[in-house]
Formats: sequence, C-alpha cells, structure tokens
Amino acid sequence: MTILSSLADIVGQTNVLTGDDVVSRTVGWFDNSPRCAKAIVRPKSTKEVSKVMALCHQNQISIVTLGGATGFVDGATSQEDQIVLSMERMTDIESIDVDNRSIIVQAGVPLQKLHEFAQEHDLHYPVDLGSRGSCTLGGMASTNAGGNEVLRYGMSREQILGLEVVLADGQVVSNLRALLKNNTGYDLKQLFIGSEGTLGIVTKLALRLRPLHSSLSTALVAVDSFKKVVTLLRTLDRNLGGRLSAYEVMWQDHFKFVIDDEQKHKAPLPLDHAFYVLVQAANYHELEAEIFMSSLEQCMENKLIADAAIASSKAQQQALWAIRDDIECLTVGLAPYIGYDVSLPINAMESYIESLKGNIKKKWADAKVIVFGHLGDGNLHLFIHIGPTLSAADKAEVNRLVYAPLKFVDGSISAEHGIGLQKKAYLKYSRTAAEVDLMRQLKNMLDPNKTLNPGIIFD
Ligand SMILES: Cc1cc2nc3c(=O)[nH]c(=O)nc-3n(C[C@H](O)[C@H](O)[C@H](O)COP(=O)(O)OP(=O)(O)OC[C@H]3O[C@@H](n4cnc5c(N)ncnc54)[C@H](O)[C@@H]3O)c2cc1C
Repeated sequence: MTILSSLADIVGQTNVLTGDDVVSRTVGWFDNSPRCAKAIVRPKSTKEVSKVMALCHQNQISIVTLGGATGFVDGATSQEDQIVLSMERMTDIESIDVDNRSIIVQAGVPLQKLHEFAQEHDLHYPVDLGSRGSCTLGGMASTNAGGNEVLRYGMSREQILGLEVVLADGQVVSNLRALLKNNTGYDLKQLFIGSEGTLGIVTKLALRLRPLHSSLSTALVAVDSFKKVVTLLRTLDRNLGGRLSAYEVMWQDHFKFVIDDEQKHKAPLPLDHAFYVLVQAANYHELEAEIFMSSLEQCMENKLIADAAIASSKAQQQALWAIRDDIECLTVGLAPYIGYDVSLPINAMESYIESLKGNIKKKWADAKVIVFGHLGDGNLHLFIHIGPTLSAADKAEVNRLVYAPLKFVDGSISAEHGIGLQKKAYLKYSRTAAEVDLMRQLKNMLDPNKTLNPGIIFD
C-alpha cells in the first residue's frame, strides 16, 4: 500500500489532492506561483489529523500545515516531497458560551466567520487583520498574529484560553477549558502559539470574547512632526481612559503612494503633512463618542493635530481603513520589493527610520522606503524598493541595513509575521545563542523526526 492510498483511507480519496489539483493552487497570497507538494491532504477532524500525523511520523514524511496561506514569511511553502495538511475542511464553530464570553472553534475557521458569529451574540473577537476573509484561527495562533487592536486587547496569544494540538507522532494534547485563570503547572499552550507549526498542529481553540461595542469612533489626523505623533498617542490614550484601540501611523511617503494608486482611494486630507494617523476607539456609551470628539478638538487647539477627517458613517470608516489596509497597492506598485515587520521602542523610531533611509539612498539613489504600521504597539512595516531588479546580494545587503541596527535599540526583526523561511538567517539579531539553543532542544523533544514544517525558524 502506498502512502497516498493510506492517506486516502484516513481522509477519503477526494481529500487527497495530487497532480493538477496541487499545481492549480498558488503558494499563497503573496506568491502566485503554483504550489508544489506530493499531495494536499484535507482532514475533517482532530482524529483524522492524528492518524495522518502518526502515518507520516512512522514513514518519516514531512508535513507542512496550511491555513489560509496569508502568512508573509514563507512559513507554509512546501516542496515536492512534502505533504501539505490543509485545514480548509476544519471550519466548524463548535460552541459558544455567552455568559463566560468564550468560544470553541476548529482551527480552519476564517477570522471573518468568527467575527460575524460573535457579533450575532453581541460579542466581539478583538483581533482584526486585513486578511480577515482568508486567514484562519489556527494560522493566527501559530503566528501569534497581531493586527489592528493590539493596543487595547493584545495579540492572539492574549485571546487564547486553551488549545487542542496534535503532536508530530499523532498524540492529541487537549486543553480546551475556557478559563481566564488556570495556574496548574506549565502553560503548555504557550509553546504552540507563535511556533509557526514547528511543534504541533493546532486543531481547536478556546478563545476569549469581549462585549460588543455599540459604536466605533474613527478619524484620520494629520500631524507635522514625529514628536507630536508620540505626544498625541500618550494624550489620546489618557483622555480616552485606555479605550484607544488603534493608532496606525503612515509616513507621508506611504500615504502619498497609496492615494496616488490609480485614484482607488479619495484623499481624505491634503498630501503635504509629514504623518497621518488613523485613530479609533470602541465605545459602549454615547458619552464616550463625545469624549473622542472633544479630545480631538482639544488636540487641534493645542496644535498637536494639524488637520483631521472624522468618519461619520460606517462607509467613511471603511474608506479610511482601506487606505491603511491596502497592502496590494504596495506589493504590486513597489515590485520587486522587500517587506519588513520590525519592533522597536517608540523613542528610537524616528532616528532609526531617518538613518535607514539615508543608508539605503546612499547605495540606491532612486530607492523608495515606505513606512507605516501599528505605531501604538511599537511595530513598523517597511516596504523597500531599490530599483527594477533585486539580486540576492542586494536583498542580503538591504536585510543587513534594516536588521543590524535593531540589535542596538533592543528591537525585534519580527513584530508579528514570524520568521518562516525568510528571516531565519537574521534570528541572531533578536535572539541570543542560548535562546535559539533552547528552541532547538524543544523542537528535538517534540518532533525528533523533523516531520513538522522542517527548516522553518531555524535549520
Ligand atoms: C492583507 C494582509 C494583511 C495582514 N495583516 C496582518 C497584521 O496586521 N498582523 C499580522 O500579524 N499578520 C498580518 N497578516 C499576515 C497573516 O494574515 C497572518 O500571519 C495570519 O496569522 C496567517 O494565517 P493563515 O491561516 O493564513 O496561515 P498560513 O499563512 O496558512 O500559515 C502561517 C504559518 O502557520 C502555520 N499554520 C497554519 N495553520 C496551522 C495550524 N492549524 N497548526 C499549526 N500551524 C499552522 C503554517 O505552517 C505557517 O507556518 C496579513 C496578511 C495579509 C495578506
């Protein structure tokens, strides 16, 4: 019996895709090339995942777990001798406990489905990403996804109350108790959150929900210096009593680039300001919306804000977010580009960006360095285009210019996207040798045959 027929015995013949059914799928959101794999296997349940893993473990076949394929770092890229384990059929919302404000879902549930379901119960799942229609809760747990509300609610890690995981040898380790407090020994779920599918396959999640807000206050404000951007964050955070849920900053180059993109977005503000900040607060009472407005007015009077466009309808809110979330305009308009997702203390950001831009332009005079990000969380996204071609040597040089200075400001080479295959050569800028050594020991203990996502994070 071949491996493929054994897999078909477990998940059913129609759920083992081979040949054209594999290559007709693309690698992912950021890579349109055809997928490459021995087969794509689509289990429906934890039991099936467990049997697939036991089989692959015994036969030393490596597995790449696939959620929505929206990851940025080639974490779910597969080779022709690998099996892709796709979570696309594990999309059930299993139960919701409205009083406990918690929900249990299968790992393949797309984020948007969870948002809509929670909303029907007057509850809110407080992680939101531009990829919401495709990314899955399992993929988000495995990358510890951040997104647009981290400032108020934290990253995916903070929302996960329990996990069910299938280990490399097929063993199921389950703790789906939806408890906020559970100090009973090691918090094992933390091992799997953010480990990019290298230690286990997430099959179910118990997630924390929050009360659904009654309204959102959203505005795009123009600010004329970085110092004011920092002061404005502190001021709004205090004035809104911790209710500020998004503080997304776009450097002028970014704003102009997106607005100029074939008139897709109408300019809500003139283009001549140094910074644009998308601010949002979730309100539970009318009074809170009034406080939002009066805070902005006060900041305009104090000249912290130079100009403002305030959304007065849901459509206007969406139009403002569409500017910030338009990643496609950058990936298409700046090709070939290199994308970065770095973390650093807010007070080090201005000089880091200025010196990086200077160093890049010294080497490539026509380069574009586009900067924006979740500044309230200390997280910046960079898109760098140095010219019409991008050689491997150029890429390595740009990587060095971006990553090396982070070590000196206690920054991180990845704030939220992870390491995948793309960044593993640079892990040393953010982690000590002792830390990487401990990570290797954990990998060796949990996956001695190197079945799960081999070569991701480190070799
Ligand atoms: C437009 C856009 C905006 C984005 N914005 C953000 C953002 O603001 N913040 C942010 O953090 N990310 C963002 N992302 C990146 C991406 O959406 C996240 O990384 C997401 O968490 C990946 O989920 P996925 O289901 O697509 O996982 P995939 O891309 O399929 O996989 C990602 C990694 O997780 C592993 N994996 C997937 N499912 C499982 C599982 N069940 N068990 C174990 N391992 C698994 C894969 O092997 C891979 O290593 C954005 C992406 C796009 C396209």
